[in-house]
Amino acid sequence: MGLFISVLVDKGRCNLCKKCQICPVDIFKFDNDIQVVDEDECLLCNACIEACETGAITIQKEYGKS
Ligand code: SF4
Ligand code: SF4
Repeated sequence: MGLFISVLVDKGRCNLCKKCQICPVDIFKFDNDIQVVDEDECLLCNACIEACETGAITIQKEYGKS
């Protein structure tokens, strides 16, 4: 049992503005024109959601998934 976090980026909305790089644990990485999300370290601080002007980011929390 535990908390599983998924950080999802809607690539149809994302304009690669990189404002989500405000993330304190650097979840969002940019490799040329591809955004890579490394969600394991997410602190659920919501800073990325507040920074993203296109509403591209969704964070899902799920408890107890094995
Ligand atoms: S802040 Fe939003 S639109 Fe900008 S790069 Fe990040 S996910 Fe994409
Ligand atoms: S909620 Fe906070 S820690 Fe998680 S991805 Fe967004 S900015 Fe990073």
